Amino acid sequence: MSELERAKPREIVAARGIEKRFGALEVLRGLDLSAHEHDVVTLIGASGSGKSTFLRCLNLLEVPDAGSIAIDGERIGLRKTRDGQTVPCSSKQVNRLRAGIGMVFQNFNLWTHMTVIENVIMPPMKVLGLTRREATERAQALLAKVGLHDRMHHYPAHISGGQQQRCAIARALAMEPKLLLFDEPTSALDPELVGEVLKVIRLLAEEGRTMVLVTHEMAFAREVSTDVLFLHKGRIEERGAPAKLFGSPETERCRKFIESVL
Ligand code: ADP
Ligand code: MG
Repeated sequence: MSELERAKPREIVAARGIEKRFGALEVLRGLDLSAHEHDVVTLIGASGSGKSTFLRCLNLLEVPDAGSIAIDGERIGLRKTRDGQTVPCSSKQVNRLRAGIGMVFQNFNLWTHMTVIENVIMPPMKVLGLTRREATERAQALLAKVGLHDRMHHYPAHISGGQQQRCAIARALAMEPKLLLFDEPTSALDPELVGEVLKVIRLLAEEGRTMVLVTHEMAFAREVSTDVLFLHKGRIEERGAPAKLFGSPETERCRKFIESVL
């Protein structure tokens, strides 16, 4: 490898020409996204513009009808079935790649019958084969990091939404993912709990974690993003550095959208 190649940041996500329809509804109409190591790429846009679907395509929770996705240089094999459906060539490959992609949802998606720490130790034990002891050590450190050390043995129903979301972030981190996906991580929270979750995500951005984030928190997006994509009806209508996109958007639609959520 030459010096130049060594210096090039790795492209952790390369999505090209992503299309997705649900029946007659064309939801994604050819979207590209590139996130290099340490990038924070933020998706903004009105409800229904396709942000969640696009994010879910990146870890194959939705299979795109067309386009290509590569994760850390490994292209995900997709093929057409006889009836025209697109499916992964190998579920093994999808599972392996997905193990390296953490996802945090709007509604936390914790296992409600498990305590906070059990939620965090389970995935690395089941998927990575860590022993309970190894997984517990890792979980304790992560729960301390997200400020939940004193809630370890609580059940999700007995902690606040902000604490649940921080637990979900710790659970995602426990897999030591190379990519983190966040789908409106603070949208389900009472306003007074938003800040504690954004603080954790900001910390992850500062650590240089590679992330793709859907959010309506514009001030936060402006602060942490390396790149912002504005989606409109399944297309990327505008993209740019946060200072440019938020400071002087080129399209009328993007400007209006930003004004509407500020
Ligand atoms: P956003 O996250 O920007 O609000 P979504 O990606 O959730 O947008 O949705 C985009 C469009 O796709 C919406 O019209 C939504 O109703 C539709 N949609 C999303 N998921 C499905 C699904 N599983 N089946 C049918 N339609 C869907
Ligand atoms: Mg959504």
